[in-house]
Amino acid sequence: MNPEYIRNFSIIAHIDHGKSTISDRILELTGTVAKRDMTNQLLDSMDIERERGITIKSQAVRVMYDADDGNTYQLNLIDTPGHVDFTYEVSRSLAACEGAVLVVDATQGVEAQTVANAMMAMNADLEIVPLINKIDLPSAEPERVKTEIEDGLAILADDAILASGKTGEGIHGLLEAVVGLIPPPEGDSEAPLRALIFDSYFDAYRGVVALIRVVDGRIKKGDQVRLMANDAQILVEEVGARRPAEVAMPELVAGEVGYLVTGLKDVSQVRVGDTLTSQVNGAKEPLPGYREAKPMVYTGLFPIDSDQYEPLKEALEKLALNDPALVWEPETSHALGFGFRVGFLGLLHMEVIKERLEREFNLDLIATAPSVEYHVYMTNKEMLSLHSPQDLPDPSEIEHIEEPYLRATIMVPPDYVGAVMTLATEHRGTFKTMNYLSTTTVEMIWEIPSSELIMDFFDQLKSRTKGYASLDYEFSGYKEGALQKLDILLSGKPIDALSFIVHKDKAYDRGRVLCEKLKEIIPRQLFEVPIQAAVGGRVLARQTVRAKRKDVLAKCYGGDISRKRKLLEKQKQGKKRMKAIGNVEVPQEAFMAILKVD
Ligand code: GDP
Ligand code: MG
Repeated sequence: MNPEYIRNFSIIAHIDHGKSTISDRILELTGTVAKRDMTNQLLDSMDIERERGITIKSQAVRVMYDADDGNTYQLNLIDTPGHVDFTYEVSRSLAACEGAVLVVDATQGVEAQTVANAMMAMNADLEIVPLINKIDLPSAEPERVKTEIEDGLAILADDAILASGKTGEGIHGLLEAVVGLIPPPEGDSEAPLRALIFDSYFDAYRGVVALIRVVDGRIKKGDQVRLMANDAQILVEEVGARRPAEVAMPELVAGEVGYLVTGLKDVSQVRVGDTLTSQVNGAKEPLPGYREAKPMVYTGLFPIDSDQYEPLKEALEKLALNDPALVWEPETSHALGFGFRVGFLGLLHMEVIKERLEREFNLDLIATAPSVEYHVYMTNKEMLSLHSPQDLPDPSEIEHIEEPYLRATIMVPPDYVGAVMTLATEHRGTFKTMNYLSTTTVEMIWEIPSSELIMDFFDQLKSRTKGYASLDYEFSGYKEGALQKLDILLSGKPIDALSFIVHKDKAYDRGRVLCEKLKEIIPRQLFEVPIQAAVGGRVLARQTVRAKRKDVLAKCYGGDISRKRKLLEKQKQGKKRMKAIGNVEVPQEAFMAILKVD
């Protein structure tokens, strides 16, 4: 296709502002998907995406649009995730585009991920088409939102598209703006092949499929190509476009977005960000790549039943085929046995993966409290990257410990500035700057330790601002902190999987509250269970779970056997998601209790 009639763009927005719904309307209006086949958020194909109503993976789809100028355009649109955990997916998608449609909810206005995504698009030099969505709602305030887009993002919003993903109003205008404002791709279809890999996934029948943006040259079935960073050789089995089902095409040429069936069996060979070129007379210079995703939180995942260790490993390997951000290493715990320390992009990513492991692979897992990556500087001058509190060396060997900090952007109505100040300060935050985007929205910048942000910060922020605040963050660097390991002892024995790293000033409070929480969570056993919180052998707090008064079987002695079995069965049910540690039954919630002690 003549590149003059191609437009490649992403749809970006804060979560829930309507990206996926707008994509649906575009698929419908262009006749890509017949109305009777339409489901809501059609591109969200994973079960979890559909249930939670969120987009996790970016999706590329090609539509053909008959524009008012009488020409037919090939539009390659990429729906992206809005949640901060999946920001790296957005940056990958943007690299394949010339433009971005920035969707802003007419009732919510500019929020934290609106700013973050718009910045990314600007840095990638994309043409931005602002769209104000949900104008069908009575509480829509398009004029206020225009001011926020202009003042907060420095993007002209006079001509912003006013649209409704619900009624379809404005979608035709949007497509005209895409065709008229977003530049066609440049690139030389006669030059040596250069194609950017912006996503890849594993197809059980065809092996690794890569989503590519052809920048120069052309690519077709049977071509011998290679990956420049990895030097892997590929015989192209098929190329085509997703509409949204895969449709094979004779070739993909400079400017086009499409898929490529590689026949490779290992997705790790097809690194996202790599450049594809021909084996003979290939390009000399690869395309600029982009930053790799880096985990922000680590948690231990342990099978309740030790027989599930191998299946858990295989399941992680399978999920990693489509999720390059997922990393893990084996971990052994005295309390929980053999498992894995797994790194995630954030808490939502963690929840999603844990849920998929349990649902799609039928595993029963205990997850330990999430932790961040600490840098431990040793007296022998070595530096240890610590993913698990239980690996912390003896304090006598430690010079100092550094912890990761985030630069957090919080957007909030002016009335709640005080509440945010209190919350962020409680979480060891340092105030940086504040700026008014409009009379209704203030942007505050804070520097906060990552470990504090994963401590219930977001839920607290939402509840203390009646749901109005939004939050975005990025890694800002490592800083020294007065950090120590807090141990939890059950019946006098330290339980490694319950220990965590805490700031000196918080150790006493968190230890005390955690003991109280654990007392409620750990069920009564046949004997008394003392719970203690200690730092370096010094006990800071103590609680006791009283012994159970009656043995469930006591009243059955001599009684009929089936009743006895039923009771035992019932007891087993109650034991679900419990792990016997020594002789104490500990439920899953105990491991997460630390996140809720504020
Ligand atoms: P995304 O997170 O940006 O992909 O947002 P979704 O497309 O999943 O939409 C979030 C919610 O807003 C869903 O419940 C949609 O049905 C709803 N929604 C999206 N667009 C509109 C609109 O124009 N009007 C109204 N009333 N609701 C909308
Ligand atoms: Mg979505």
